[in-house]
Amino acid sequence: MSLKSINPYNGKTIKTYKEHSLKEISDKIKETHEAWLSWRKTDFKERALLMQNLSAALKNSKESLAKMMTEEMGKPYKAGIAEVEKCAGVCDYYATHSKDFLKDQLVDTDATKSFISFQPLGVVLAIMPWNFPLWQVFRFLAPSLMAGNCGILKHASNVSGCALAIENLVIAAGFPAHVFQSILVSSKKVNPIIENPLIKAVTLTGSTFAGKMVAQKAASLIKKSVLELGGSDPYLILEDADLDLAAEICVNSRLINSGQSCISAKRFIVIKTIEKEFIRLFKLKMSKKIMGNPLNDKTDIGPQAREDLREELHQQVKKSIKKGAKCVLGGVIPKGKGAFYPATILINVKKGMPAYDEELFGPVAAIISAKNEEEAIKIANDTSFGLGSAVFTKDLIKGERIAKEELQAGSAFVNELVKSDARLPFGGINQSGYGRELSAFGIHEFVNIKTVYVK
Ligand code: NDP
Repeated sequence: MSLKSINPYNGKTIKTYKEHSLKEISDKIKETHEAWLSWRKTDFKERALLMQNLSAALKNSKESLAKMMTEEMGKPYKAGIAEVEKCAGVCDYYATHSKDFLKDQLVDTDATKSFISFQPLGVVLAIMPWNFPLWQVFRFLAPSLMAGNCGILKHASNVSGCALAIENLVIAAGFPAHVFQSILVSSKKVNPIIENPLIKAVTLTGSTFAGKMVAQKAASLIKKSVLELGGSDPYLILEDADLDLAAEICVNSRLINSGQSCISAKRFIVIKTIEKEFIRLFKLKMSKKIMGNPLNDKTDIGPQAREDLREELHQQVKKSIKKGAKCVLGGVIPKGKGAFYPATILINVKKGMPAYDEELFGPVAAIISAKNEEEAIKIANDTSFGLGSAVFTKDLIKGERIAKEELQAGSAFVNELVKSDARLPFGGINQSGYGRELSAFGIHEFVNIKTVYVK
C-alpha cells in the first residue's frame, strides 16, 4: 500500500510514499522507546537548547516548508510562512517556560517532605490532520519533548512530505536519534499501533468520527488520550456591535486556511434588527477575497485540500439550500482545474440544515437570525460542538459576561476572532473533544503527576 500526495491546485501527484509495514512501525516505536530511556534523564537546559535549535531550523527553512504545505494541501503560501513562524514561536515558548511549568511543587503535610513531581510518560502517538500540517504537530511536539516524552507522528495520508520534513528538522536541530519519528501509515492501520505497549498515550486532532475511533481504542487499553476535534463556532453579532469591524473579523475568521480550520467562525448569529446591514457588509468584504493559485501572494483562498472534501462541503451547501437556506454568494463549483470552492454565504439558515447542525469545513458562512440577545445565546449553544466562540458588542462588560458565563465552548473571544496562542490553553468541550493543548495546561496533559512523600 502507498500514500499519495496530490497537489489540489492542479491534481498532479507530487509523490507516492510506500507505507511502513506494521513490523517497521513496531521497530520504530521500539527505537523511540529506547531513545526515551535516555531522553527522560536529560535536564531542561539541554532540552531547551535543542528546542531553540529547532526554532532556528524552522525559521531557516520557512520558504521551503511553506511551499511544501502549499503543494501538498493548497495552503496559500503567505499563510504557510506565518504558520512556520508560529511553530518556531511555540518551540521558543516551551524552551523558555517548561522548567517552570514542571518544577516540583512542595505541599505541606505530615511528612518530612512531600511534593508533586511531573514525570514523563514515555512514547506518545500523535495522529494529526492536514489542515495545519506543521502547526498541529508542533503544538504537540514542543511541550511533549520538553516534558521528557518522545513522539511518534502518524500524519494525515495526504501530507507525508510534511511529516518527513518535520522528522528531518528535529534531526537537524541535534535532538538524539529517534526521539521523534514519523510513520507513514493510513488510518486503517492505527489500531495495532495504539495497542503497542510502548505507546503510553495518544493525541489526535481531526474529525469527531476519527476522535471517537481513537478514543475508544485508547480507553479499551486504559491509555490516556487528548482529542482536538471539529467545531461549528458561533459568532454573535449583537445590536450595539461595530458592524464594519465585526464583518471584517468574521470574514477573516471564516476564511482562515481557505475555510479549513477547526476554529474558523462557522455560524454567524445576528440580531434581526441589524441583520440586513451586517449581511451587506459581510458580502461586500467576502466578495473582495481573491481565490486562485496558492503560490500567488495576493491569493486569500486556495484550493480545498482534497477533491473529496470539496465534494462533501458542496453536498452540505446543496442540502442546506434544499431545506430553505438562501445562497447570496458563491455556492457553485468553478469550472477548470483545482479543488476550488468559492467564498459562499448562506442566509435564512435554520436548525435541521447541515449549515446549522454540522461543521462546514470550507469557505461557507451560515447566517442565522436571532430575535434578541437571549435567543442568540441559545442558538450559539444549540450545537453538539464546543470549540471556540465569539461575541461582538461595544459594551465590553456585557461581552465579557457573555463570553465567560454563557457561551458553552473551550474559548470565547470578545470583538476578536478565535485564535490559538501558545500562552493560552486550547481545546474544546462536548463533541469538540477533551484535554487542552498549549500553555501550562498543555504540557501537563502527558505527564505522570506524581506524589512523592518522604516520612
Ligand atoms: P480525519 O479526521 O479523517 O483525519 C485526521 C487524522 O486522523 C488523519 O491523520 C487521519 O489519517 C486520522 N484518522 C482518521 N480516521 C482514523 C481512525 N479511524 N483511526 C485513527 N486515525 C484516523 O479528517 P479528514 O481528512 O477526513 O477530514 C474530514 C473532516 O474532519 C473535515 O471535513 C473536518 O470537518 C474535520 N477535520 C477537522 C480538523 C481539525 O482541525 N479539528 C482537521 C482535519 C479535519 P488518514 O489521513 O490516514 O485517514
